[in-house]
Amino acid sequence: MKFHQHAVISLALSGLLYAAFKSWTLAAANLIAGVCIDLDYAVDYVMQHGFPFRLKEFIHAYHEDTLLKVRLFHGWEWLPVLGLMVWLTDGNLWITGTLLGVGQHLVFDKINFGEHFLCYSLLWRWEKGFKSEAIFKRTRRGIK
Ligand SMILES: [Zn+2]
Repeated sequence: MKFHQHAVISLALSGLLYAAFKSWTLAAANLIAGVCIDLDYAVDYVMQHGFPFRLKEFIHAYHEDTLLKVRLFHGWEWLPVLGLMVWLTDGNLWITGTLLGVGQHLVFDKINFGEHFLCYSLLWRWEKGFKSEAIFKRTRRGIK
């Protein structure tokens, strides 16, 4: 799913969260997490190309599908970790909102791209060497 689509959906869900729970913290955490986990694309670029970050090269690498797909934040594994953190903190609203934001982001990516469920598993991608051709079987190569 594209960045602006995540922004719109996250904003709408944050509005619903605010309407339901009257918590700016919960709504803001959902919005920030729901949008910002895509920054792991840039992290992949920096890990593989180093600094300085060059936007043109990053966009080229993205479109040419030359980056390994670490996508650190795109992992179902984060959900139980965040869920445990929510439990341990008695429902801290920042962590709860982050859990909701990451969760909705991954679900919408999965639904939008229709890739295999495991494509959004960090450990599974690691086992595949983070190589796009081993992860994605369809025409699209990349997790958004
Ligand atoms: Zn994404």
